[in-house]
Amino acid sequence: MSPISEHQSAATSGALAPWQRTAQGANLLGADGHLGLTIFEEITALAVKNEAINLGQGFPDEDGPAEIAQAARDAISNGHNQYAPGKGVPALREAIAAHQERFYGLTPNPDTNIIVSTGATEGIAATLLALTGPGDEVLTFEPFYDSYGAVIGLSGATHTTVPLLAPEFEPDPAALEAAFSDRTRVVLVNNPHNPTGTVFSRETLAKVIELAEKYDAVIVTDEVYEHLTFGVAHTPVATLPGGAERTITISSAGKTFSFTGWKVGWLSGPEELIAQVRTVKTFMSYSSGTPFQMAIAEGLGMPDDFYACIAAKLARKKDVLSDGLREAGFEVYNPRGTYFVIADTAPLLRSGRFTDGLDLARQLPGLIGVAAIPVPAFCHPEGAERNNSLLRFAFCKSDDKLTEGARRLAQLHDVVK
Ligand code: PMP
Ligand code: GLN
Repeated sequence: MSPISEHQSAATSGALAPWQRTAQGANLLGADGHLGLTIFEEITALAVKNEAINLGQGFPDEDGPAEIAQAARDAISNGHNQYAPGKGVPALREAIAAHQERFYGLTPNPDTNIIVSTGATEGIAATLLALTGPGDEVLTFEPFYDSYGAVIGLSGATHTTVPLLAPEFEPDPAALEAAFSDRTRVVLVNNPHNPTGTVFSRETLAKVIELAEKYDAVIVTDEVYEHLTFGVAHTPVATLPGGAERTITISSAGKTFSFTGWKVGWLSGPEELIAQVRTVKTFMSYSSGTPFQMAIAEGLGMPDDFYACIAAKLARKKDVLSDGLREAGFEVYNPRGTYFVIADTAPLLRSGRFTDGLDLARQLPGLIGVAAIPVPAFCHPEGAERNNSLLRFAFCKSDDKLTEGARRLAQLHDVVK
């Protein structure tokens, strides 16, 4: 038997192969066992094909600050083009530490408490692979960002979830408690939360810490939208009592600086945990993007005004799109943070024209020239059922696109009649 067919037979017999568990966790595995695309790739491709307004994948269509882009060009011109250290360039780790002190009063040591990763995505993967394996449970909220399910699958751990229900999308404390067990090794919190836009209350975060202590679990928080909140302050878990000593915090330059393609992320936390994650991260990418790391080191030093301004600008865009969605007849759940707003399309589903929410999202670009992400794509089957009628719309787009997108969405009820 050739090595390839041996691999294939392992993959198709009984236990799932690691790649199959990954694909299953990310809802990529079709009934025929073939791989699909992530929901973001699939919907973006449909948007391009139909020349639709892409309110699906969360990337801004305007670049970030010119001075940060210039800093990357300068870094290239000045010869910062070879491998960065595995931990990340010192200037960036120092800038991350300074940023955490400025905004949150935290004082991580840049040498021992911080590592740079290839976007938050690699940070999440390295953390879960370092800390969890078969027999462990990783607890997340549901809906959950797609890479969580995928990497938990790769690690061989079991993915447990606690639902976030409309309209508040806060977990029920009793359900949260019931979701923990002696096998819970990691509780993975995403705050502000993609796709619901929830900024969790201090009570919720305190409960997570209390339960993590009780069950001796590590808290991993994905805070990539830390600066994108509307009228509420972001509270890092690591700033709450009992949080810092058991929390790995993950963030990224992509969203804060509107350079999602640069893939500069970072992790901070207790030395022992960071060292474990670094061991795995070293053999994933070793290091990446030296000139981009140099530029983000400068970016993190931007004045307070910059940070206030990005949130205010985005809040206005959120209102433009939310108003448009409401006028188009959808129930809209007001997000407190992130790039995203959720709208309920239940009346459209009742028309019988679509088999389910996923089908609606797939047809939308062709029907009216707008693309959005179906919330069931962020769920296990039971949660997908519960969230069947919800669509996620991204408002990190130009005002013209938001207005035109809303105008087209208003036609949907007529098109579907
Ligand atoms: N976590 C969440 C919740 C996200 O929405 C995203 C997309 N930005 C990521 C992680 C991935 O971040 P990055 O692009 O830095 O890998
Ligand atoms: N984070 C982005 C979103 O939620 C997508 C990133 C990706 O395509 N993997 O839309």
